[in-house]
Amino acid sequence: MPSNASSRSDKNAAPPLPEPLRVPVADSHTHLDMQSGTVDEALAKAASAGVTTVVQVGCDLAGSRWAAETAAAYDAVHATVALHPNEAPRIVHGDPDGWSRQGARQPGGDAALDEALAEIDRLAALPQVKGVGETGLDHFRTGPEGKEAQERSFRAHIEIAKRHGKTLVIHDRDAHADVLRILKEEGAPERTVFHCYSGDAEMAETCASAGYYMSFAGNVTFKNAQNLRDALAVAPAELVLVETDAPFLTPVPYRGRPNAPYLVPVTVRAMAAVRGVDEDTLAGALAANTARAFGYRAG
Ligand SMILES: [Zn+2]
Ligand SMILES: [Zn+2]
Repeated sequence: MPSNASSRSDKNAAPPLPEPLRVPVADSHTHLDMQSGTVDEALAKAASAGVTTVVQVGCDLAGSRWAAETAAAYDAVHATVALHPNEAPRIVHGDPDGWSRQGARQPGGDAALDEALAEIDRLAALPQVKGVGETGLDHFRTGPEGKEAQERSFRAHIEIAKRHGKTLVIHDRDAHADVLRILKEEGAPERTVFHCYSGDAEMAETCASAGYYMSFAGNVTFKNAQNLRDALAVAPAELVLVETDAPFLTPVPYRGRPNAPYLVPVTVRAMAAVRGVDEDTLAGALAANTARAFGYRAG
């Protein structure tokens, strides 16, 4: 009974549970607070697919507080806290069309950004908070007027991560050269993760020589993403992570439908094919790498 109605509803439906991984892995970057269902449901479904750990990433103050609270409540959840690169300019300049659940925001100026950074600093000291991020640069969504606030925020996050000995989680959208330059200028923390790695093979060599982790998301499966697969093919085995960035970037063949941590196996299998290794070997490396990258005990 082929009908438009059914294909439309399929498009929004949660993809089916993939065959579980035999060797459990972590989703190194997810946003449970932007997904449907409860945390318990998301974690149970993920665990049933062999995804037994998740890193919950904060993007604004409310989300960072929530990440810290959730990681305190669940052993399977680790938190990172930050003002997203697109959030920092909104705090300074305001943005009625911003993504924030708090809705329209009045411009707060530099003082408001400093105040927000002080709260991130406080949260970063908590033991269940393993990282500072996602921070970085986004030249795609933030225009020239927001550049200064974005860069100031990025530099402040690097300093916070280093002072607390936490992992830095980088969001780099259309800003590779500037992100690498600022990391070099500030001095990168001991552990730095490029989330949703989006560079090419040449940049992967640069990241490898600096010891930066590269976390691959579902877009590595996209047809037009050969550059990402080329990067994945040359990245050192001990620096590769996997993530969903859910609810975004759902892997093929479910592209466009809601993403969630239980779909990590789809991306892991695609990654194993790119690297020419078997799934269990890759999964074992991913689990160990994520634990090392975020400084928690694998298990
Ligand atoms: Zn991001
Ligand atoms: Zn993200």
